[in-house]
Amino acid sequence: MSGDKNERGPGRISTRQSDVEARGETFFPGPSDAGLAAFPPKERWDDWADPDSKAWPRRKDRRCMLVPTTCFNCESACGLLAYIDKDTMEIQKFEGNPVHPGSRGRNCAKGPATLNQIRDPDRILHPLRRTGKRGEGQWERISWDEALDLAAARIRQAIQEKRQGEVMYHVGRPGEDGFTERLLAAWGVDGHNSHTNICSSSARAGYQFWMGIDRPSPDHANADVIFLVSAHLETGHYFNPHAQRIVEAKQRGAKVIVLDTRLSNTATHADYWLATQPGSEAAIHLAIANHLVTSGQWNTEFVRRWWNWEEYLVEERPDLEPTFENFERALKELYAEYTFEFAAAESGIDAATLREVADVVAGAGTRFASHNWRSAASGNEGGWQVSRTLFLLNALLGAVATPGGTYPNAWNKFVGKPIRLPRHPEHWNELSWPAEFPLAMNEMSFLLPHLMKERNGTIDTYFTRVYNPVWTNPDGFSWIEMLTDEKKVGLHIAMTPTWNETAYFADLILPMGHASERHDIHSYETSAGQWIGFRQPVLRAARERQGETVTDTRDVNPGEVWEENEFWLELSWRIDPDGSLGIREFVESEKNPGTRLGVDEYYAYIFDHSIPGLPEKAAEENLTPLQYMRRYGSFQVSADVGSPHEGEVPAAELDDVAEDRYGRVYTRAPKPPSNNVAPTGAPDPDADGRRPAGVRVDGNVLRGFPTPSGRLEFWSSTLARWGWRKEAVPMYLPSHVAIPAMAPDEKVLISTFRVPVQIHTRSANSKWLDEIAHTNPLWIHPKDAAADGLETGDPVRIETEIGHYVVKAWVTEGIRPGVVACSHHMGRWKLDDNGQRQLMATVSLDH
Ligand code: SF4
Repeated sequence: MSGDKNERGPGRISTRQSDVEARGETFFPGPSDAGLAAFPPKERWDDWADPDSKAWPRRKDRRCMLVPTTCFNCESACGLLAYIDKDTMEIQKFEGNPVHPGSRGRNCAKGPATLNQIRDPDRILHPLRRTGKRGEGQWERISWDEALDLAAARIRQAIQEKRQGEVMYHVGRPGEDGFTERLLAAWGVDGHNSHTNICSSSARAGYQFWMGIDRPSPDHANADVIFLVSAHLETGHYFNPHAQRIVEAKQRGAKVIVLDTRLSNTATHADYWLATQPGSEAAIHLAIANHLVTSGQWNTEFVRRWWNWEEYLVEERPDLEPTFENFERALKELYAEYTFEFAAAESGIDAATLREVADVVAGAGTRFASHNWRSAASGNEGGWQVSRTLFLLNALLGAVATPGGTYPNAWNKFVGKPIRLPRHPEHWNELSWPAEFPLAMNEMSFLLPHLMKERNGTIDTYFTRVYNPVWTNPDGFSWIEMLTDEKKVGLHIAMTPTWNETAYFADLILPMGHASERHDIHSYETSAGQWIGFRQPVLRAARERQGETVTDTRDVNPGEVWEENEFWLELSWRIDPDGSLGIREFVESEKNPGTRLGVDEYYAYIFDHSIPGLPEKAAEENLTPLQYMRRYGSFQVSADVGSPHEGEVPAAELDDVAEDRYGRVYTRAPKPPSNNVAPTGAPDPDADGRRPAGVRVDGNVLRGFPTPSGRLEFWSSTLARWGWRKEAVPMYLPSHVAIPAMAPDEKVLISTFRVPVQIHTRSANSKWLDEIAHTNPLWIHPKDAAADGLETGDPVRIETEIGHYVVKAWVTEGIRPGVVACSHHMGRWKLDDNGQRQLMATVSLDH
């Protein structure tokens, strides 16, 4: 670059767009119009001169290698680029990965703070075994071999003795698309649990009953109106990828409506912030729905084609001929009671504002993106109707799988088919999902201590992974009681990168890698397209770029920190060394039979065989698909999936078909193979065993939705058959904290929101994040504060039905009067007083 007039030092180059392009390199624009690159051109990711800030005032560069991975600090798995000093082979920093289709180079504060996590002085670096009693905090260091053999022997014995139900795995943040669940399935173990029934299952239920898929995927970028309920999502889980698209939509003139009792970060950017009484959101949705229907501002053609309105009429209105005209009448009658005045009384938002918002919604047409994440649904009795009634608005407007509308999330995901796909285990685990809860949306891990008690259950081997129920779950003491009983839980293995309250009660603690120390593959809904992201141990990839061969991630991670995929493969190998349990075949190399499958072969198979377009894209750069993913960390499978429900079912798939009276079409033809194994709805076959293939709409057999009827289920036959007939349509179930349910001197406490830059257990020692958010006060409105004689900083005692705590007040208009709020994401405890940690107050459990 000697001719470059902007060169400032050896290897330092101009980042001006014209100069970058003149060099034939990729220009990654920044947020300003200055025409300066925001990221190094990808052609220079092997050798980049990066200013060394610590050398100031000297101008010194580090020679860095840029290696992609993905963030593990929320669900959206944004792209990160690790800057690795080529002299020291140490990670210097993390920035965004501009080629990642979801995050497009941008991150929230938690992404770069991955550096704090990997450098956390308190992190666990070696396998540990308990020496004293459980919970006493006495540990000894052991080898990985000892840990693996101990766990493998117990699990092998449990499987041999048909006690698969006594092996269980609970995860807080999966961060991957099914690897562990498939491995457990290979063991025949139905024991994969998440924390879903605490945070998101209520909202999922509302979506599942509509479309057979339990999560929405709003196309914010192309929306005209964005409607967000309890905006936790855009300030927490999908913070960055969604937030940047909402901002783009706003720049185009889109309106943002936020229903949130608390002034969330998202609400601060809204055109309409409706600080609703918690749990009243469904009343507002229904008032808007009523307005759309009575004012004729609904998409009758979409409803006629795609709702199961005929089934509803036959089942619920036998007094009416099943014609669409009669359905219009029935719909008006059904929702007539939900006036703006009714919604105003329930929510505390005045009727005129609700009417104005309803007209904004009506103007969106098919460009209406909506989302409910999640507290309005999860924190309230009847909360599942919040998302059901919210999606009613999409369904009325026809804003389903349209540009700017809302998709079923599985349609915006691509989960590549792995080398071997085990069947779902035959054994059903009643401790995870008791039969008497058929409508629970996911396993009921949060009830485990109680189910163990009621059913006299035992667990032989219990894994917790990035899961801290002792601290996170409301009944943490029940978990302590269960975990300290060695007759109940034989072996508790805590897989965690950092210390946590649940790990105190483990027998083995296994050190697991952070975002830059492990492999995972994932695909999340962030737009109307599909992408895959590849998390990888960046030092392993860096050494491979330098020509080294690394076959075990422990060789590049700090201490003996491992990655889970290699761990699970090795554990499975040891559980079934001779193949007699039928497990070994799932973890055996195809290339080198008789040896264990390695992660390179595992991922190379997926990238070679299952990701459409990836091999061709890689070949353009003379790379294998695996090399391509190691170099760029992500791949766009599709920019726009279109409207899959409108696709015609090919004649070849229609063999010996049967059709029910509502047009559901069943076939005997086998399901065509698909490389995308993203979980989706699986409606039942017909009485003769034919599988549902499509639905007849205006004479054509279309793919439809994975619901029993093949249509969007305004009336859920599932709910009706399980005895929930009245609730089978979107309707309002008043919450236990509805205005009429509250005593005059009672306030609602909202604890279901997160501080956007904190991450439960894993950010306790993150200096950068603590600098942004280092206090967790009680939000209280000035009116309530005045009535109670409180000022900001005053201590407040919060009493609930299960106990009390004391916290400082923050007097703010950012909360609805009559409601107070305190996040559950901060405030830690520990059992002893050694090694005080920031944000982890030492308290006595005796008081
Ligand atoms: S939004 Fe933030 S925490 Fe979530 S993946 Fe992206 S950078 Fe990480």
